[in-house]
Amino acid sequence: MVSSAQVHGAGRPPGTATQPGQLVDGEWIEGAGEPLAVRDKYSLEPFAWIGTADAAQVRHCVETAHAAFRRGAPGAFERGVVLDRAAALVETRAEDFVEAMRREAGFPRQDALGEVRRCIQTLRLSAEEARRIAGDIVPVDGAPQQAGRLAFTLRVPLGVVVAITPFNSPLNTVAHKIAPAFAAGNAAILKPSPHTPFTACLLARALADAGMPRGLLSVLQGGAEVVQRLLQDERVRFIAFTGSTEAGRTIQQAAGLRRTQMELGSIACTIVCADANLDHALPRIVGAAYRKAGQVCTSIQLLLVHRSRMAEVEDRLAGAVRGLAYGDPADPGTVVGPVISEASAVRIEAWIDEAIGRGARRLAGGRRSGAVIAPTLLADVDDGMKVSCAEIFGPVMCLLPFDRLEDAIGRINATPYGLAAGIFTNRLDEALGAARRLEVGGVHVNDTSSSRVDMMPYGGSKDSGFGREGPRYAIHEMTEERVVSFTCV
Ligand code: NAD
Repeated sequence: MVSSAQVHGAGRPPGTATQPGQLVDGEWIEGAGEPLAVRDKYSLEPFAWIGTADAAQVRHCVETAHAAFRRGAPGAFERGVVLDRAAALVETRAEDFVEAMRREAGFPRQDALGEVRRCIQTLRLSAEEARRIAGDIVPVDGAPQQAGRLAFTLRVPLGVVVAITPFNSPLNTVAHKIAPAFAAGNAAILKPSPHTPFTACLLARALADAGMPRGLLSVLQGGAEVVQRLLQDERVRFIAFTGSTEAGRTIQQAAGLRRTQMELGSIACTIVCADANLDHALPRIVGAAYRKAGQVCTSIQLLLVHRSRMAEVEDRLAGAVRGLAYGDPADPGTVVGPVISEASAVRIEAWIDEAIGRGARRLAGGRRSGAVIAPTLLADVDDGMKVSCAEIFGPVMCLLPFDRLEDAIGRINATPYGLAAGIFTNRLDEALGAARRLEVGGVHVNDTSSSRVDMMPYGGSKDSGFGREGPRYAIHEMTEERVVSFTCV
């Protein structure tokens, strides 16, 4: 989690202007609250300041969003047109997004381009889904004394939806919340991560330029205090949250009887069975562990390898991980950039040191410079080490041997989390056994825990949360069913 000392404005050079990063009632305005320093995640220097929302601005924002919802969203066809146009604008403006994510998220080009490509897809999928929101015919005349009666359901929007997003997917996770919210006919208020406010603003600008009606999309900047103020307003009907399990718990408590969608933390795992095709598996595993410097909720933290293949996996992975270029995200060759802050890097380094101090073997990496952690591969980890029992959210993967598939499944189910898992095998019994017994939101056979496609239902189990993203499923979460019946007299 971000401490306010890390991001807030203490030390702002006199005369430095803040950027108007809030969208309220169709206007970009300055925040009246304490300004936020946005740091370049590689140099660690602030490169811009952005105002945050104070209490009055939060109240006014909810008021205008609520009024916009009451005025009514455009019809489904028009909502689809706006979302398709926004997708085209994001495509045209791709380089602006890449540059914003390089600076404020520390993403190398490939990671940033991946976000842009997926955001375009998410907007297009949301446009398609806007046009096919439908209820059901209820065959009520099948009940006694209901002859001639007709009933059907409508799926209706809820009203003001608050979207709270993390730093690690500063574009596509934002799109996964505000695009389905609008597709369903809601008014969305976005509160992006204080680490990555500008990428979110660029997406909001694309939607506004695409014809988003005034008030149906708002942006407020700030941290937990802005979220708490939003939640105090009863006109907020739905909260779509992605972030840490700890913050999710706090938000859920404040939500009371209101519906929420919680996409939370994880210790993501992938299994390599005895029959796995390693030529297929290993490049995918490296990508899934070190993409975005391991800061993906489905990044492989624990790789469970059948003992018969462990020597080969260790050897081949150690070579591949040592070969990953890391460091400055502006360097076109860089594959692994910095993590989100020096404080996070210091924590990750301490966890690696603890593991090595307790007997883990370092096969690659382990060193830190500023916010950059060299891609790290560990073997001989035990269950008590932090690297194997708490979410690391950095470029660190641990290898664990197993003898029976049941043991691997048991190890994964023993974590408090349950987001996604991968399994490499061509044996039907093992693949189906894992699919049935892993307590997670998604199981990917011959792929990793991190193999999401944006149209999939995506979400977790246990401490990884509940509710499903993916435009079709998110629209379902952000609407409710209303039954309408007709009696002919
Ligand atoms: P975070 O929880 O620190 O912040 C996420 C958002 O919540 C930010 O906008 C932040 O300002 C706000 N926030 C933080 N504390 C809050 C509080 N007490 N009350 C109200 N709002 C609060 O998370 P992060 O560090 O930005 O992101 C990393 C975490 O997100 C990891 O745990 C990762 O696993 C998780 N994540 C989960 C998914 C998923 O789909 N399950 C996807 C991406 C990230």
